[in-house]
Amino acid sequence: MATTASEKIHCLIIGSGPAGYTAAIYAARANLKPVLYQGIQPGGQLTITTDVENYPGYPEGIQGPEMMVDFEKQAVRMGADIRYGIATKVDFSTSPHKVWIDDDKMIESDAVIIATGASAKWLGLESEKRLNGFGVSACAVCDGFFFRGKEVAIVGAGDTAAEEALYLSKLCTTVHMFIRRDQMRASKVMQERVLNTPNIKIYWNTDTDEVLGDKQVTGVRIKNNRTGEVQTIPVNGFFVAIGHQPNSDIFKGWVNMDEAGYIKTVPGTAATNVEGVFAAGDVQDKIYRQAVTAAGSGCMAALDAERWLGSKGIH
Ligand code: NDP
Repeated sequence: MATTASEKIHCLIIGSGPAGYTAAIYAARANLKPVLYQGIQPGGQLTITTDVENYPGYPEGIQGPEMMVDFEKQAVRMGADIRYGIATKVDFSTSPHKVWIDDDKMIESDAVIIATGASAKWLGLESEKRLNGFGVSACAVCDGFFFRGKEVAIVGAGDTAAEEALYLSKLCTTVHMFIRRDQMRASKVMQERVLNTPNIKIYWNTDTDEVLGDKQVTGVRIKNNRTGEVQTIPVNGFFVAIGHQPNSDIFKGWVNMDEAGYIKTVPGTAATNVEGVFAAGDVQDKIYRQAVTAAGSGCMAALDAERWLGSKGIH
Protein backbone atom coordinates (compact mmCIF):
# COMPACT_ATOMS: atom_id res chain seq x y z
CA MET A 1 0.00 0.00 0.00
CA ALA A 2 1.30 3.49 -0.80
CA THR A 3 2.18 5.87 2.00
CA THR A 4 -0.67 8.38 2.35
CA ALA A 5 0.67 10.64 5.09
CA SER A 6 3.88 11.48 6.87
CA GLU A 7 4.88 13.28 10.02
CA LYS A 8 8.20 14.43 11.49
CA ILE A 9 8.81 14.05 15.23
CA HIS A 10 11.74 13.89 17.68
CA CYS A 11 10.94 10.76 19.65
CA LEU A 12 8.92 7.73 18.55
CA ILE A 13 8.15 4.90 20.95
CA ILE A 14 6.92 1.59 19.55
CA GLY A 15 5.06 -0.59 22.04
CA SER A 16 2.83 -0.10 25.06
CA GLY A 17 3.99 -2.43 27.83
CA PRO A 18 5.77 -1.21 30.96
CA ALA A 19 8.88 -0.38 28.90
CA GLY A 20 7.06 1.71 26.29
CA TYR A 21 4.90 3.65 28.75
CA THR A 22 7.80 4.32 31.11
CA ALA A 23 9.87 5.59 28.19
CA ALA A 24 6.90 7.81 27.26
CA ILE A 25 6.62 9.21 30.80
CA TYR A 26 10.32 10.10 30.92
CA ALA A 27 10.48 11.40 27.35
CA ALA A 28 7.40 13.57 27.87
CA ARG A 29 8.81 15.03 31.09
CA ALA A 30 12.02 15.81 29.17
CA ASN A 31 9.87 17.72 26.67
CA LEU A 32 10.70 15.41 23.76
CA LYS A 33 6.99 15.36 22.81
CA PRO A 34 7.03 11.59 22.34
CA VAL A 35 4.53 9.77 20.15
CA LEU A 36 3.81 6.20 21.23
CA TYR A 37 2.18 3.60 18.98
CA GLN A 38 0.55 0.89 21.06
CA GLY A 39 0.81 -2.09 18.70
CA ILE A 40 -1.37 -5.17 18.42
CA GLN A 41 -1.93 -5.61 22.15
CA PRO A 42 -2.26 -2.22 23.88
CA GLY A 43 -0.83 -2.59 27.37
CA GLY A 44 1.23 -5.62 26.36
CA GLN A 45 1.49 -8.95 28.12
CA LEU A 46 0.33 -7.63 31.50
CA THR A 47 -3.15 -7.18 30.08
CA ILE A 48 -3.45 -10.98 29.97
CA THR A 49 -2.29 -11.46 33.57
CA THR A 50 -4.31 -11.39 36.75
CA ASP A 51 -2.56 -10.55 40.01
CA VAL A 52 0.75 -8.75 39.91
CA GLU A 53 2.23 -9.18 43.37
CA ASN A 54 5.85 -8.34 42.71
CA TYR A 55 5.68 -4.80 41.32
CA PRO A 56 7.01 -2.56 44.11
CA GLY A 57 4.62 0.07 45.39
CA TYR A 58 1.52 -2.13 45.44
CA PRO A 59 1.56 -3.80 48.87
CA GLU A 60 -1.76 -5.54 48.19
CA GLY A 61 -0.89 -6.43 44.58
CA ILE A 62 -2.72 -5.13 41.52
CA GLN A 63 -4.47 -6.60 38.49
CA GLY A 64 -2.26 -6.49 35.37
CA PRO A 65 -4.83 -4.76 33.11
CA GLU A 66 -5.52 -2.14 35.79
CA MET A 67 -1.82 -1.46 36.17
CA MET A 68 -1.42 -0.89 32.44
CA VAL A 69 -4.36 1.52 32.37
CA ASP A 70 -2.57 3.46 35.12
CA PHE A 71 0.71 3.43 33.15
CA GLU A 72 -1.12 4.84 30.14
CA LYS A 73 -2.93 7.51 32.16
CA GLN A 74 0.35 8.64 33.69
CA ALA A 75 2.02 8.87 30.26
CA VAL A 76 -0.93 10.87 28.92
CA ARG A 77 -0.89 13.20 31.95
CA MET A 78 2.80 13.90 31.29
CA GLY A 79 1.93 14.90 27.73
CA ALA A 80 2.79 11.80 25.69
CA ASP A 81 0.79 11.33 22.50
CA ILE A 82 -0.56 7.76 22.72
CA ARG A 83 -1.98 6.33 19.51
CA TYR A 84 -3.42 3.04 18.34
CA GLY A 85 -1.44 1.63 15.41
CA ILE A 86 1.05 -1.04 14.47
CA ALA A 87 4.56 -0.40 13.20
CA THR A 88 4.81 -2.53 10.05
CA LYS A 89 8.10 -1.48 8.41
CA VAL A 90 11.21 0.52 9.23
CA ASP A 91 14.09 2.10 7.37
CA PHE A 92 16.95 2.96 9.69
CA SER A 93 19.41 3.74 6.89
CA THR A 94 18.94 7.49 7.16
CA SER A 95 18.51 9.99 9.95
CA PRO A 96 15.78 10.82 10.85
CA HIS A 97 14.68 7.19 10.91
CA LYS A 98 11.58 6.10 9.05
CA VAL A 99 8.83 3.94 10.56
CA TRP A 100 5.61 3.03 8.76
CA ILE A 101 2.42 2.62 10.75
CA ASP A 102 -0.26 0.19 9.52
CA ASP A 103 1.58 -0.02 6.15
CA ASP A 104 0.32 3.46 5.49
CA LYS A 105 1.46 6.48 7.44
CA MET A 106 5.19 7.19 7.59
CA ILE A 107 6.74 8.71 10.72
CA GLU A 108 10.17 10.29 10.52
CA SER A 109 11.73 10.41 13.95
CA ASP A 110 15.16 11.48 15.16
CA ALA A 111 15.10 8.96 18.03
CA VAL A 112 13.24 5.66 18.02
CA ILE A 113 12.64 3.53 21.11
CA ILE A 114 11.73 -0.08 20.35
CA ALA A 115 9.61 -1.56 23.14
CA THR A 116 7.64 -4.17 21.22
CA GLY A 117 7.92 -6.91 23.85
CA ALA A 118 7.57 -10.62 23.28
CA SER A 119 4.77 -13.05 22.34
CA ALA A 120 3.78 -16.56 23.30
CA LYS A 121 5.51 -19.51 21.61
CA TRP A 122 3.61 -22.44 20.12
CA LEU A 123 4.54 -26.11 19.83
CA GLY A 124 4.24 -26.03 16.04
CA LEU A 125 1.72 -28.85 15.62
CA GLU A 126 -0.75 -28.61 12.74
CA SER A 127 -3.59 -29.61 15.09
CA GLU A 128 -2.60 -26.91 17.58
CA LYS A 129 -2.87 -24.28 14.84
CA ARG A 130 -6.12 -25.65 13.39
CA LEU A 131 -7.83 -25.72 16.80
CA ASN A 132 -6.48 -22.38 18.01
CA GLY A 133 -9.47 -20.53 19.42
CA PHE A 134 -11.47 -23.78 19.45
CA GLY A 135 -10.06 -25.10 22.68
CA VAL A 136 -6.38 -24.30 22.10
CA SER A 137 -5.10 -21.18 23.84
CA ALA A 138 -1.84 -19.60 25.03
CA CYS A 139 -3.54 -17.61 27.78
CA ALA A 140 -5.27 -19.36 30.66
CA VAL A 141 -6.24 -16.07 32.24
CA CYS A 142 -8.00 -14.97 29.04
CA ASP A 143 -9.70 -18.24 28.16
CA GLY A 144 -9.82 -20.40 31.31
CA PHE A 145 -13.30 -19.13 32.06
CA PHE A 146 -14.67 -21.06 29.06
CA PHE A 147 -13.59 -24.35 30.64
CA ARG A 148 -15.24 -24.03 34.03
CA GLY A 149 -16.07 -27.45 35.42
CA LYS A 150 -14.21 -29.20 32.58
CA GLU A 151 -10.92 -31.04 32.14
CA VAL A 152 -8.02 -29.24 30.51
CA ALA A 153 -4.36 -29.83 29.72
CA ILE A 154 -1.39 -27.49 29.82
CA VAL A 155 2.09 -27.90 28.41
CA GLY A 156 5.15 -26.19 29.89
CA ALA A 157 7.10 -26.19 33.13
CA GLY A 158 8.23 -22.62 33.71
CA ASP A 159 6.73 -19.99 36.01
CA THR A 160 4.12 -19.10 33.41
CA ALA A 161 2.94 -22.72 33.09
CA ALA A 162 2.89 -23.08 36.88
CA GLU A 163 0.91 -19.86 37.31
CA GLU A 164 -1.55 -20.81 34.58
CA ALA A 165 -1.97 -24.38 35.89
CA LEU A 166 -2.81 -22.96 39.34
CA TYR A 167 -5.26 -20.51 37.80
CA LEU A 168 -6.95 -23.29 35.82
CA SER A 169 -7.06 -25.58 38.86
CA LYS A 170 -9.49 -23.15 40.47
CA LEU A 171 -11.88 -23.34 37.51
CA CYS A 172 -11.49 -26.82 36.11
CA THR A 173 -12.04 -30.29 37.51
CA THR A 174 -8.61 -31.62 36.49
CA VAL A 175 -5.56 -29.95 34.97
CA HIS A 176 -3.27 -32.39 33.15
CA MET A 177 0.21 -30.85 33.04
CA PHE A 178 2.71 -32.16 30.47
CA ILE A 179 6.38 -31.61 31.31
CA ARG A 180 9.02 -32.65 28.80
CA ARG A 181 11.80 -33.34 31.31
CA ASP A 182 11.89 -34.97 34.76
CA GLN A 183 11.94 -31.58 36.46
CA MET A 184 10.31 -28.16 36.28
CA ARG A 185 12.06 -24.93 35.39
CA ALA A 186 9.65 -22.86 37.54
CA SER A 187 10.81 -21.25 40.79
CA LYS A 188 10.74 -23.49 43.87
CA VAL A 189 7.76 -21.73 45.44
CA MET A 190 5.68 -22.13 42.27
CA GLN A 191 6.71 -25.77 41.89
CA GLU A 192 5.59 -26.49 45.43
CA ARG A 193 2.24 -24.82 44.87
CA VAL A 194 1.68 -26.89 41.73
CA LEU A 195 2.76 -30.16 43.33
CA ASN A 196 0.52 -29.49 46.33
CA THR A 197 -2.59 -28.84 44.25
CA PRO A 198 -4.59 -32.08 44.19
CA ASN A 199 -6.39 -31.51 40.88
CA ILE A 200 -3.18 -30.81 38.92
CA LYS A 201 -1.95 -34.10 37.51
CA ILE A 202 1.69 -34.01 36.39
CA TYR A 203 3.04 -36.13 33.54
CA TRP A 204 6.88 -36.09 33.60
CA ASN A 205 9.03 -36.76 30.49
CA THR A 206 6.00 -36.19 28.34
CA ASP A 207 5.70 -34.73 24.83
CA THR A 208 2.52 -33.65 23.12
CA ASP A 209 2.01 -35.68 19.95
CA GLU A 210 -1.26 -34.23 18.72
CA VAL A 211 -4.20 -32.16 19.85
CA LEU A 212 -7.33 -34.14 19.01
CA GLY A 213 -10.67 -32.90 17.77
CA ASP A 214 -12.43 -31.99 14.58
CA LYS A 215 -14.08 -28.63 15.26
CA GLN A 216 -13.32 -28.41 19.00
CA VAL A 217 -10.61 -29.90 21.19
CA THR A 218 -11.74 -33.30 22.48
CA GLY A 219 -8.44 -34.65 23.77
CA VAL A 220 -4.71 -34.80 23.45
CA ARG A 221 -2.34 -37.59 22.52
CA ILE A 222 0.85 -37.66 24.56
CA LYS A 223 3.99 -39.76 24.52
CA ASN A 224 6.38 -40.57 27.32
CA ASN A 225 9.80 -39.75 25.86
CA ARG A 226 11.54 -42.31 28.11
CA THR A 227 9.26 -45.33 27.75
CA GLY A 228 7.59 -44.52 24.41
CA GLU A 229 4.18 -45.11 25.99
CA VAL A 230 1.38 -43.29 24.15
CA GLN A 231 -1.82 -42.18 25.91
CA THR A 232 -4.91 -40.27 24.91
CA ILE A 233 -6.31 -37.90 27.53
CA PRO A 234 -9.82 -36.54 26.97
CA VAL A 235 -9.82 -32.76 27.58
CA ASN A 236 -11.85 -29.79 26.39
CA GLY A 237 -9.08 -27.22 26.55
CA PHE A 238 -5.38 -27.27 25.67
CA PHE A 239 -3.15 -24.49 26.98
CA VAL A 240 0.36 -23.80 25.71
CA ALA A 241 2.73 -22.07 28.15
CA ILE A 242 6.21 -22.75 26.80
CA GLY A 243 7.76 -19.30 26.79
CA HIS A 244 7.91 -16.34 24.49
CA GLN A 245 9.66 -14.94 21.45
CA PRO A 246 10.68 -11.32 20.94
CA ASN A 247 8.55 -9.18 18.60
CA SER A 248 11.48 -8.00 16.54
CA ASP A 249 10.77 -9.23 12.98
CA ILE A 250 10.39 -5.82 11.37
CA PHE A 251 13.77 -4.73 12.74
CA LYS A 252 15.69 -7.70 11.28
CA GLY A 253 18.55 -6.53 9.10
CA TRP A 254 18.53 -3.09 10.73
CA VAL A 255 19.53 -3.67 14.36
CA ASN A 256 21.79 -6.38 15.74
CA MET A 257 20.03 -9.34 17.37
CA ASP A 258 20.96 -12.66 18.90
CA GLU A 259 20.01 -15.95 17.25
CA ALA A 260 16.60 -15.95 18.99
CA GLY A 261 15.78 -12.44 17.74
CA TYR A 262 16.38 -10.51 20.97
CA ILE A 263 17.76 -7.06 20.14
CA LYS A 264 21.31 -6.48 21.36
CA THR A 265 21.93 -3.34 23.36
CA VAL A 266 25.24 -1.89 24.48
CA PRO A 267 25.64 -3.25 28.04
CA GLY A 268 24.52 -0.79 30.69
CA THR A 269 22.60 1.30 28.12
CA ALA A 270 19.55 1.01 25.86
CA ALA A 271 21.56 1.85 22.72
CA THR A 272 21.44 -0.49 19.73
CA ASN A 273 24.07 -0.58 16.98
CA VAL A 274 22.07 2.08 15.10
CA GLU A 275 22.62 5.65 16.24
CA GLY A 276 19.41 7.12 17.64
CA VAL A 277 17.66 3.73 17.91
CA PHE A 278 17.17 2.36 21.40
CA ALA A 279 15.55 -0.82 22.74
CA ALA A 280 13.83 -1.52 26.04
CA GLY A 281 11.83 -4.25 27.73
CA ASP A 282 11.30 -7.88 26.73
CA VAL A 283 12.32 -7.36 23.10
CA GLN A 284 15.91 -7.02 24.35
CA ASP A 285 15.72 -9.04 27.59
CA LYS A 286 15.52 -12.80 27.64
CA ILE A 287 16.75 -13.14 31.19
CA TYR A 288 14.70 -11.03 33.61
CA ARG A 289 11.47 -10.30 31.67
CA GLN A 290 9.72 -8.67 34.60
CA ALA A 291 7.41 -5.66 34.50
CA VAL A 292 9.73 -3.78 36.84
CA THR A 293 12.88 -4.50 34.80
CA ALA A 294 11.03 -3.60 31.59
CA ALA A 295 9.92 -0.31 33.17
CA GLY A 296 13.49 0.36 34.32
CA SER A 297 14.89 -0.25 30.86
CA GLY A 298 12.18 2.00 29.36
CA CYS A 299 13.45 4.76 31.64
CA MET A 300 17.02 4.09 30.48
CA ALA A 301 15.96 4.26 26.83
CA ALA A 302 14.25 7.63 27.29
CA LEU A 303 17.23 9.08 29.17
CA ASP A 304 19.64 7.72 26.54
CA ALA A 305 17.45 9.15 23.76
CA GLU A 306 17.30 12.53 25.49
CA ARG A 307 21.09 12.65 25.85
CA TRP A 308 21.63 11.51 22.28
CA LEU A 309 19.22 14.14 20.91
CA GLY A 310 20.97 16.76 23.06
CA SER A 311 24.39 15.70 21.74
CA LYS A 312 23.10 16.19 18.20
CA GLY A 313 21.67 19.59 19.05
CA ILE A 314 18.12 18.36 18.35
CA HIS A 315 15.52 19.90 20.68
P1 NDP B 1 10.42 -20.22 30.44
O1 NDP B 1 11.29 -20.06 29.24
O2 NDP B 1 10.96 -19.95 31.79
O3 NDP B 1 9.85 -21.71 30.47
C1 NDP B 1 9.36 -22.33 29.33
C2 NDP B 1 8.96 -23.75 29.71
O4 NDP B 1 8.37 -24.36 28.58
C3 NDP B 1 10.16 -24.60 30.11
O5 NDP B 1 9.81 -25.41 31.19
C4 NDP B 1 10.43 -25.42 28.86
O6 NDP B 1 10.93 -26.71 29.15
C5 NDP B 1 9.04 -25.57 28.29
N1 NDP B 1 9.08 -25.76 26.85
C6 NDP B 1 9.68 -24.98 25.92
N2 NDP B 1 9.47 -25.46 24.68
C7 NDP B 1 8.74 -26.58 24.84
C8 NDP B 1 8.20 -27.52 23.95
N3 NDP B 1 8.38 -27.42 22.63
N4 NDP B 1 7.51 -28.56 24.46
C9 NDP B 1 7.32 -28.68 25.79
N5 NDP B 1 7.79 -27.82 26.70
C10 NDP B 1 8.49 -26.76 26.23
O7 NDP B 1 9.13 -19.33 30.11
P2 NDP B 1 8.03 -18.73 31.09
O8 NDP B 1 7.10 -18.05 30.17
O9 NDP B 1 7.49 -19.74 31.99
O10 NDP B 1 8.78 -17.65 31.96
C11 NDP B 1 9.53 -16.61 31.34
C12 NDP B 1 10.21 -15.74 32.41
O11 NDP B 1 9.22 -15.00 33.14
C13 NDP B 1 10.98 -16.54 33.45
O12 NDP B 1 12.12 -15.84 33.80
C14 NDP B 1 10.01 -16.63 34.61
O13 NDP B 1 10.67 -16.80 35.83
C15 NDP B 1 9.30 -15.28 34.52
N6 NDP B 1 7.95 -15.34 35.11
C16 NDP B 1 7.79 -14.93 36.39
C17 NDP B 1 6.55 -14.97 37.00
C18 NDP B 1 6.43 -14.49 38.38
O14 NDP B 1 7.45 -14.15 38.98
N7 NDP B 1 5.24 -14.41 38.94
C19 NDP B 1 5.36 -15.45 36.27
C20 NDP B 1 5.64 -15.90 34.94
C21 NDP B 1 6.89 -15.84 34.38
P3 NDP B 1 12.42 -26.95 29.68
O15 NDP B 1 12.41 -26.57 31.13
O16 NDP B 1 12.59 -28.41 29.44
O17 NDP B 1 13.30 -26.09 28.83
